[in-house]
Amino acid sequence: VIGYFNGRWVDPAEPCVPLDERGHQFGDGVYEVIRAYGGRPFLLDWHVERLFQSMEALSIRPPFHPDECQSLIHELLQRSGESEAAIYLQVTRGSAVRNHLFPESSVKANVSGTVRPVPAGQAPHAPGRLLLLPDERWFNPWIKSLNLLPNVLAKQTAHDAGADEALLVRDGCMIEAASSNVWFVLHGELVTAPADRYILAGITRRFVLDLARDLGIPVREAKLPRDRLAEVDAIFLTGTLTEVYPVGSVVEHPDIPCEPVSAERPRVVPVSPSDVREVWT
Ligand code: PMP
Repeated sequence: VIGYFNGRWVDPAEPCVPLDERGHQFGDGVYEVIRAYGGRPFLLDWHVERLFQSMEALSIRPPFHPDECQSLIHELLQRSGESEAAIYLQVTRGSAVRNHLFPESSVKANVSGTVRPVPAGQAPHAPGRLLLLPDERWFNPWIKSLNLLPNVLAKQTAHDAGADEALLVRDGCMIEAASSNVWFVLHGELVTAPADRYILAGITRRFVLDLARDLGIPVREAKLPRDRLAEVDAIFLTGTLTEVYPVGSVVEHPDIPCEPVSAERPRVVPVSPSDVREVWT
C-alpha cells in the first residue's frame, strides 16, 4: 500500500495533510477510483475525463494537464508494485485558513492518492441483497465530490439490515445505489437511470451500456418507479470495484419509508436484519 501527497510518497497511515485543508474541512474536492487489471489501469481515459468534469463543476483549477494526470496514475501504480489494484486519486481546492469563500488564486489544488491491492480471480459474487432507502443526497450527485455522508449512512443502514447495498429512491424511482449504479431487466430490456444530475454517471455503467449496444441487447435509460419492482426479472449493480454484481433480493424497512419524505426530523431507527421484509426476489 502506498500513498502520495503533492509530489511526495508517503505512508497512507501517517499524518501528512495540513489541518487547514479544504478537502478535510469542507469536503471541497473530487476524486476517482480506478481499477487496475494485470498492471494496467482500466478505462483510464474515461476516469480522467470525469475527474476534469468534476473539477470544472466545482471551479477547482486543475493542478495538472489530463496527460500529466494519466502519467501520475501510471506512476502510482508502478511504484506500488501491484498489478491487481484500486487506485484512489483525490484533488481538493487546497490548503488555506478555514473560510467558506474560495482561497486566493495563488492557493494550488492538493493532489493525493493511494494504491491498494485487490485480490485477483475471486469467485463470482453471491447474489446480493439491497435495502430500499430514500435518496437523501443533494441535487448534484453527478459530481464525484468528496461529500459522501448520505452515501455512508445509507450503506451502513443497509449493512445493519443484513443487506449489501442501499437502493436509493428519489421522486418515487429507484435511481442508484450508495456506491454503484443499478440496472433492471424488465420485459426483455435493460433499464438504468439516465445520467442526469441526480446520479453519478458511472464509468462501468458507460462500459456496460456500450457492451449491451454492441451485443444488440435492448437498453433504455429511464427511471424505474419503485411500484414497478414486482415486474422486474433481474437486477444487477455496476461499479469500478463492484464490477458487475448480481442482486438476489430487495428488502425494505417498515419504519423507513422511501416516499413521501416528510419535513419532520426523522426518528433514528435502530435497524437489524429481523426488521426488514423482502419485496423482491
Ligand atoms: N454511483 C456511486 C454513488 C458511486 O460511488 C459509484 C462508485 N464510484 C458508482 C455509482 C459507480 O461508478 P463507477 O463505475 O465509475 O465506479
